[in-house]
Amino acid sequence: MSVYESTSMWKEVDSYFSQVLIAEDDALITARESARLHHLPPHEVAANQGAFLGLLTRAVGARRVLEIGTLAGYSTIWLARAVGDNGHVTTLEVEPQYAAIAQENLRRAGVSQVVDLRVGPALNSLATLVRKGVEPFDLVFIDADKPNNPGYLEAALALTRRGSLIIGDNVVRDGEVADAASQDDRVQGVRTFLAMLGSDPRLDATALQTVGSKGWDGFAIAVVRTP
Ligand code: SAM
Repeated sequence: MSVYESTSMWKEVDSYFSQVLIAEDDALITARESARLHHLPPHEVAANQGAFLGLLTRAVGARRVLEIGTLAGYSTIWLARAVGDNGHVTTLEVEPQYAAIAQENLRRAGVSQVVDLRVGPALNSLATLVRKGVEPFDLVFIDADKPNNPGYLEAALALTRRGSLIIGDNVVRDGEVADAASQDDRVQGVRTFLAMLGSDPRLDATALQTVGSKGWDGFAIAVVRTP
């Protein structure tokens, strides 16, 4: 089977899974479409991945979620719905235009009251959260610029507690993640991030490859063992 055929089958299977399993309502569909309408990069998670994030959030009973990388708020909606009315999502976005679109999508989805969207470089926003000594987050979803992943992980460790989950998206980089000599700083950011996950005694971690409507990708997931 050619790569093209496999890719189209991955899409077909994702579409089937979404059809039978995923309740993507008008607000989620509009969030995705608004990103295309405003020419934002097509980098939001797929519907089944958003549902997976929501399930993880509910499975660990997360009430406080931190997301790094909002884009148009598609994954934020899944996370916000999963934490429920008494929960809280803090999401960080560097682009004011994306943040404005996300705010509108969050409002349409009826989750604005549980989401704090902070605009600016995430490392700065994270430093502010650490400095303020905010209550620990139960789940952190890292999905922004990959060169900064090591810094995001350091901050996530400062902002979580024993048992919190840390998830990092897009760790495959078209397979280049396995190339130690890669000149791509996104690849090196992910490699350092994975090395930190694997060697830090405060964490238990793994990474999984995925295929689907978003192509070949994967995520890393870690549990915080000790504060
Ligand atoms: N989580 C979103 C979803 O699934 O719907 C997708 C996020 S997209 C992969 C990455 C986002 O991170 C983009 O909106 C980008 O502008 C933002 N970003 C990139 N660098 C950033 C930085 N230094 N600080 C904060 N956000 C950043």
